[in-house]
Amino acid sequence: MVSDKWLRDVPLAPRTTWRIGGPAKFFFAPETPDEAVEAWSSARQRGIPVLVLGKGSNLVVADEGWPGLALALSDRMNKAEWTRGPSGNLRVRAQAGAKLSVLAASAVRSGGAGMEKLAGIPGSLGGAVLMNAGAYGQETAQVVVSVLACDAEGRKFELGADECAFGYRTSCFRDGEFLVLEAGLECAPGEAASLKAEMERHLALRREKQPLELPNAGSLFKRPQGDFAGRLVEAAGLKGFRVGDAAISEKHANFAVNLGHATARDVRRLADEVIRRVRERFGVELETEQIFL
Ligand SMILES: Cc1cc2nc3c(=O)[nH]c(=O)nc-3n(C[C@H](O)[C@H](O)[C@H](O)COP(=O)(O)OP(=O)(O)OC[C@H]3O[C@@H](n4cnc5c(N)ncnc54)[C@H](O)[C@@H]3O)c2cc1C
Repeated sequence: MVSDKWLRDVPLAPRTTWRIGGPAKFFFAPETPDEAVEAWSSARQRGIPVLVLGKGSNLVVADEGWPGLALALSDRMNKAEWTRGPSGNLRVRAQAGAKLSVLAASAVRSGGAGMEKLAGIPGSLGGAVLMNAGAYGQETAQVVVSVLACDAEGRKFELGADECAFGYRTSCFRDGEFLVLEAGLECAPGEAASLKAEMERHLALRREKQPLELPNAGSLFKRPQGDFAGRLVEAAGLKGFRVGDAAISEKHANFAVNLGHATARDVRRLADEVIRRVRERFGVELETEQIFL
């Protein structure tokens, strides 16, 4: 039984980029998609809530922790197999726990185009598919060919990219009813040296603009229609605004950072207060991009 291998009371804060959150009651790091499906479906059948954990780079875990099973895919479920299609396209079939940045850098090295601007996103492939992670005009959905997932009962199914309901930071996997196991990606042929230069330019842009020296989880808010969340937050005078040890970054107003001992409650209160002040000032309703548990 896979549940014999579950650990108990495992701290989740070190597994999130925020470095925030209490322990998971149960914890399991599957090695294969079949092990992941077994753990996922046996927990669900027993009424145990499951938190699928990728790289924890878009999550605010509650201070009380997670009352069910944390299924950590990135520890061991990260294999990838590369092939070349007949038209010269570079293909990869990768497990959900694979690091997006590693896949993007491998694609670039082999002359595969379409992921060079995604290399700075610190998530897993599963998290990137679920969120349709994207940056500088590139999105995960643009290179996805298929996704292997399973439903609440553990039944596996494969969807083509056009069946995944990809949208701005969303997909059909977003509501938590499915477990993403693997994805097939395809990159058009490109020139490795120029792709590498593009990748490095965008990594440098991130280092320049984003507060990468402090724990955070990327953009705090989604982009509102016709505007930028960072512009609105800055114009509302909220750069540096602080609740406990959670603060709006001085460097980038759509990043909130952990100044040391921030709690999930601090982050939630910070986000709510920023939403309130931006609404009052500009009549725009900001929506958080990060997932609060
Ligand atoms: C410094 C920094 C910069 C960032 N820049 C960007 C950016 O440019 N663009 C962007 O889009 N995002 C960005 N992000 C946010 C984040 O990296 C992405 O949203 C990423 O795709 C999240 O992947 P993850 O593996 O960390 O997911 P997690 O945070 O582990 O999980 C996020 C959600 O996905 C679910 N999930 C994860 N894996 C699976 C799976 N296999 N099956 C089912 N559900 C799953 C989780 O349960 C959770 O609900 C940034 C974050 C940081 C810290």
